[in-house]
Amino acid sequence: MILLAFIVGAILGSFYLVVGTRLPLRENIITSRSRCDHCHTVLKWYELIPILSYIFQLGKCRHCGQKIAIEHFIVEIISGLLFLWGYYYYGLTLDYATYLVLVSLTLIIFISDLKYMIILDSPLIISGILLIIIKYFEVGLKGMFLAIIYGIILFVFMYIVKIIGDKIFKRESLGGGDIKLCFIIGVSLGYGYYGFYLGLITIVFSAFLAMPYAIASIYLLKKNELPYGPFLIAASTIVFIFIEKFSRLLVFFMI
Ligand SMILES: [Zn+2]
Repeated sequence: MILLAFIVGAILGSFYLVVGTRLPLRENIITSRSRCDHCHTVLKWYELIPILSYIFQLGKCRHCGQKIAIEHFIVEIISGLLFLWGYYYYGLTLDYATYLVLVSLTLIIFISDLKYMIILDSPLIISGILLIIIKYFEVGLKGMFLAIIYGIILFVFMYIVKIIGDKIFKRESLGGGDIKLCFIIGVSLGYGYYGFYLGLITIVFSAFLAMPYAIASIYLLKKNELPYGPFLIAASTIVFIFIEKFSRLLVFFMI
């Protein structure tokens, strides 16, 4: 089962890379076949096997001999390991399902937001629907609606932060994708007593995660824009994994 989790993770990881890199360019990822980035030869099925095809081809295209981007190999391994670790940690549970949705979305957003400063709508919509369905099986209809309400509250909260931020800095302070992402965070964390507060902790935590990157990009790259989505979704995935620890932290501060 652990090996299966890794293989499924690696295959989906290679799909997420396609979603994150080709969907923002408005390419049809369902009908268009995978091609070499250099010579555009349509790849055969055995050239698409994650990780292994990269190793056996020694990182080079069989047709033109150009290097295959190492990001394929890296994303496939990371995705495989995350799926494997989740199975080890959760077993076959609904929490594992939520974890997989969050991890998948994290990978896609990392790729598209770092590369193009874009958070795509379609992965957000699909993840949102999957999380709501999982909530239904986890806590029933009432709990599901409660999770949706928490999602909407966090969305509105972040929207207000954006309006205030836009006024203060006199420019766009937060992207639309970051605000929509808050709905997803609210739904995934937002049932039980501390849902909304966990959402707020996630937002604060994400700012800390983004800080080193922000400082580096201001001083080294001289850029004053930063993709915030990857840090936001990574923070929510970490809070979800250690939800009991974060809940205890919350109780500590509330007393
Ligand atoms: Zn080629």
